[in-house]
Amino acid sequence: MGNRTYTMIKPEAVAAGNSGKIIARIEDGGYKILAMRKVQLSKADAEAFYAVHKERPFYGELTDYMSGGPIVAIALEKDNAVPDFRQFIGATNPQEAEEGTIRKDFGTSLQENAIHASDSDENAEIEIKFFFSVRDLVG
Ligand code: GDP
Repeated sequence: MGNRTYTMIKPEAVAAGNSGKIIARIEDGGYKILAMRKVQLSKADAEAFYAVHKERPFYGELTDYMSGGPIVAIALEKDNAVPDFRQFIGATNPQEAEEGTIRKDFGTSLQENAIHASDSDENAEIEIKFFFSVRDLVG
């Protein structure tokens, strides 16, 4: 525990052709890709993935957005992966994200903020398992 996180490149960033640039930044940042897959979530998939947010007012909008086009799902490895990667991608709102972060450079709105990052080690394991089997993770 403590060395893996889950990320996904969100639909607007994939549609804009920014997946490769974002993946290059992630690798340059010292993160190792354990597994990666491009996939389009169904509405039900997105609702299940974001179930922790189901009471929030933007849940319907968020799950429409996340199922509206393909995403790139990635399992990552690095020491202290969860907190380091959250800092690396920047604040939720791209307008508040630090210079040089992925959300600052590729996010277009509070909702369409280019990339996801797990918020705890426990959720990282759950989210990795949502997309990948143990056999998919190549260390
Ligand atoms: P994160 O951990 O930085 O991704 O932020 P949260 O867990 O708070 O929110 C999950 C995702 O929901 C964010 O990455 C955004 O895509 C979206 N989101 C967060 N806040 C809002 C909001 O107020 N309105 C809308 N429409 N989407 C939001």
